[in-house]
Amino acid sequence: MNSIKLKAYAKINLGLDVVRKREDGYHEVRMIMQTIGLYDKVSILRTNNTSITVKTNLPYLPTDENNLVYKAAVLVRKNYNISQGVHIILDKKIPVAAGLAGGSSDAAAVLYGLNRLFHLKLPRAELLALGLKLGADVPYCLMRGTALSEGIGEKLTPLAPFPFCHVLIIKPGINVSTRYVYENLKLNEEIKHPDIDAIITAIKANDLQSAAGHFGNVLESVTVKDYPVIGQIKEQLLNTGAITSLMSGSGPTVFGLFDSREKAEKAFYQFKTGKLAKQVYLTGLYQPRLKFSH
Ligand code: ATP
Repeated sequence: MNSIKLKAYAKINLGLDVVRKREDGYHEVRMIMQTIGLYDKVSILRTNNTSITVKTNLPYLPTDENNLVYKAAVLVRKNYNISQGVHIILDKKIPVAAGLAGGSSDAAAVLYGLNRLFHLKLPRAELLALGLKLGADVPYCLMRGTALSEGIGEKLTPLAPFPFCHVLIIKPGINVSTRYVYENLKLNEEIKHPDIDAIITAIKANDLQSAAGHFGNVLESVTVKDYPVIGQIKEQLLNTGAITSLMSGSGPTVFGLFDSREKAEKAFYQFKTGKLAKQVYLTGLYQPRLKFSH
């Protein structure tokens, strides 16, 4: 095998709680993660030279060591003494710096792909540990589906599949820095924490309404105040019939869940023709786990 083509799926957070700030500066989280049907295409080719090269459809994305796919390739080659070069073609569809873990998912695809391409036969646990070195969400991207993520993202527990629904993804035309959001998060009494355990219980019971009733993202306490468009999108989603609407990750993307395709399509066209959204995607949940057969 000289090349491999993979799909790197985006995630949304159905619940995001920050439990505490650790002494080393990391935030300890409890998050309900969910893969959705929006994906980047990642192709990896073995070459006849010794370099890593990256090509992407987005001119503003780095193609050097600042790209997470490049970092992932460096890590694997260094750890397993691989000298052969690779060429990575990245076809991005997941909005960048959006809270959808696009870069993390691309990196996970490269770890998975190189493991296959170079017949490394690395066990899942080793790949997950490598992933964590690249980013907190990378281990989850190697798992996919519905899951609980704890610690700084390294403690993963698979959950029953989240109930069937349609997902509308709305990305406003603003940029929000993840670092800014975490640095400005104040874990005081005023903050409303989502009930992560109640979401898990509702998922087990396959109860969409109840699960949605407990959704929450503590990071909205920073972003909704500083970027009113996020609150406006949340509100419009509810007005167009979404069961719930929430910001994903550190934003600025907001998602709405719908129990009817008709309502979701209507909302899709409203956002497409309105002023609040820069990018709009109508998709669904993506449940298959990533399999590690050699
Ligand atoms: P997360 O939800 O994990 O915080 P995100 O959706 O907020 O991820 P990304 O799309 O992963 O953010 O990108 C964050 C930054 O990383 C961008 O500023 C971008 O320049 C850089 N980056 C590096 N590699 C990639 C990649 N393969 N895809 C997208 N962004 C990348």
